[in-house]
Amino acid sequence: MSEIPTTMTASVLRGIEDLVLEDRPVPSPAPDEVLVQVLSVGVCGSDVHYYTHGRIGPYVVESPLVLGHEASGRIVAVGADVDAARIGQRVAIEPQRPCRVCELCRAGAYNLCPAMEFYATPPIDGAFCEYVLIQDDFAYEVPDSISDHAAALMEPLSVGIAAAQKGGIKVGDTVLVAGGGPIGIIAAQVARAFGAVDVVVSDINPARRELAAGYGVRVLDPATESTEQLGAHVFIDASGAVPAIVNGIRSVRSGGTVVLVGSADEIPLSVPEIAMREVNVTGTFRYTNTWPIARALLATGQVELDSLVTHEYGIEQVEEALTGEGSAGSLKRIVLPGVRRVAEPELAGRA
Ligand SMILES: [Zn+2]
Ligand SMILES: [Zn+2]
Repeated sequence: MSEIPTTMTASVLRGIEDLVLEDRPVPSPAPDEVLVQVLSVGVCGSDVHYYTHGRIGPYVVESPLVLGHEASGRIVAVGADVDAARIGQRVAIEPQRPCRVCELCRAGAYNLCPAMEFYATPPIDGAFCEYVLIQDDFAYEVPDSISDHAAALMEPLSVGIAAAQKGGIKVGDTVLVAGGGPIGIIAAQVARAFGAVDVVVSDINPARRELAAGYGVRVLDPATESTEQLGAHVFIDASGAVPAIVNGIRSVRSGGTVVLVGSADEIPLSVPEIAMREVNVTGTFRYTNTWPIARALLATGQVELDSLVTHEYGIEQVEEALTGEGSAGSLKRIVLPGVRRVAEPELAGRA
């Protein structure tokens, strides 16, 4: 095991569009924690949102914050109560710390824990840095067949799994997914793994439709093609676009389920359309107990994430990683905290 340094480089958000590199002490694990050397971190829409707006709903960046919550790495030290044999393991991080004792935690809905501490959600630091701490049982060992990137992307994969679970997707279902971004493509792959036989991704952006089509799902343009005749059992919104949600509600069959994953503010809800057709409308907030499922889906090849990665960046290039949103063919951008700079960020994936 290589020596653990006393300080590390962290990318720190000080305010809107104000990102700096800082030297910070490498933290030491509490008795129930492991110290993970971070190898790969996905850039999420929420990271971009904090960078450009300084807040998401009630969460406001009021003090310096390290972004990044889709992380994988290698355990380099363990707390006093953790098996030292874990040192050296490659792990995927479930980036949350519930209280474990409140009513919701005890009911199993720990994602709704009011005392939740979640990476990169103010005031809790995330993983755009070289080392992070996580409780032992939220660091999931991954086999060699799962890459560092795919292990990091088990976080958005977990979002897709939670949506499929909440939608109750079962064998034979037709599933409509709005939005051909990373979450939409992941949700579509998960829907198929859950047994859906007809998975349709709708997106107004032709480039995104083309990317989504590469994953063996049907794609359509909601501007020119109606989805109302689909009679979907489940609709998953991964677009956050109000017209897509309204359209999705109309596209599920009577008794079907609408799962809102995207973050639209408000939608006009037709009570007759919901009530008279007994449509279930629900949301998802993060996930619970999804990492073992994510690992199994990846290990068996039922879900594939490496091809989502289009760009890699070093720790000095987090700002580029966050602002590269509109860059052509960009799907999933990854920060490598152990690397200073990647010479040519457009080197990864298949773009
Ligand atoms: Zn995310
Ligand atoms: Zn709790």
